[in-house]
Amino acid sequence: MSLNVRVNDAALSGVAEKVVAGEPLTLADGVRLYETSDLHGLGRLANYVREKLHGDRAYYNRNRHINYTNVCALSCKFCSFYRKRGEEGAYEMPVEQVVATARRAADAGATEVHIVGGLHPWLKFDYYLDMLRGVRTACPDLHVKAFTAIEIIHFGRVARMSVEQVLTHLRDAGLGSLPGGGAEIFDDRVHDEVFKGKVRADKWFDVHRTAHRLGIYSNATMLYGHVETPAERVGHLIKLRELQAESLANSPAHFNCMIPLSFIPEQSELGHLPGPTGLTDLKTLAIARLMLNNVAHVKAFWIMQAALGWGCDDLDGTVVWYDITKRLGDSAAPTHQELHVNDIRRLIREAGREPVERDTLYRPVRRDAVTGQVVRGEPALV
Ligand code: SF4
Repeated sequence: MSLNVRVNDAALSGVAEKVVAGEPLTLADGVRLYETSDLHGLGRLANYVREKLHGDRAYYNRNRHINYTNVCALSCKFCSFYRKRGEEGAYEMPVEQVVATARRAADAGATEVHIVGGLHPWLKFDYYLDMLRGVRTACPDLHVKAFTAIEIIHFGRVARMSVEQVLTHLRDAGLGSLPGGGAEIFDDRVHDEVFKGKVRADKWFDVHRTAHRLGIYSNATMLYGHVETPAERVGHLIKLRELQAESLANSPAHFNCMIPLSFIPEQSELGHLPGPTGLTDLKTLAIARLMLNNVAHVKAFWIMQAALGWGCDDLDGTVVWYDITKRLGDSAAPTHQELHVNDIRRLIREAGREPVERDTLYRPVRRDAVTGQVVRGEPALV
């Protein structure tokens, strides 16, 4: 094996050979990676793939999260964000407020807004179209990444349209890409135990497959650390890899990025669960990198700075108002997670990597050194 990737666990040597050869790993390989006590070997393998793809570059982007409503028809057990209409703390933003927030974000240098919300039972489909058109008119250069798969399905029910019709209308109104939320764990046992009421895997895949076919890029996620087994996590990653292969072969768009999300039990109906440990977080990031050999980017939250040496190439940190699934006793006291851009660059440099600001599609963003304004051009895709 022509390796500068050393593994000490003999059970990993076959896996390491496949990683170096760029071959896809199997379910058994993924489970072996979870079971190994050779943590440094696992980290080295994930880092090997990360450096092969991206060298020392570590990406970040400047975005703003906008949660247009917390009113939701569902009551997911793991969610501490939703409210019922009329309940204390429930809110819906008028379209003008969403547009004004996007405008402020663009003026402050954001290149992207990330807009998601609850499944509001009474908002009409026109509300979402007006929101997108309003943002596009007010800030034509801002990329709008909006609406998880379950929101898209909800809009279809509200508007009595197919997923394809909904996505086509949203795209034509200004939707740029879809975030990856709502994926949770693609497994019927886990779904029935924890996510009953949410859409099953086939519906999530239908939305993302259709989006890719319509030229709308998207992200993927996995919410781990609750009732699922390591094998179920690996199965989830393999299903994502299969759709990515299909989209890369047949569609003009595909998944840009994988974002493993660590489950936070407090203040959800699953508060009795212990939640994942830091080691499970690191292992899961590394294993996501290794299983998803056809997805270019794996993102971690800035708090996981060490992840830049464990397979991740993208740090999420310039985020404000990221409420869904976050610990939140009172919606009037949001988790404020914004980092100054200099802080995130410092975190990246401290981890031994070179910070690169990117846009939503991972093109490098160039800024005027004096004004900080984006210099428009046609940078190559990375
Ligand atoms: S996770 Fe989404 S769909 Fe589920 S209750 Fe929360 S806001 Fe509603």
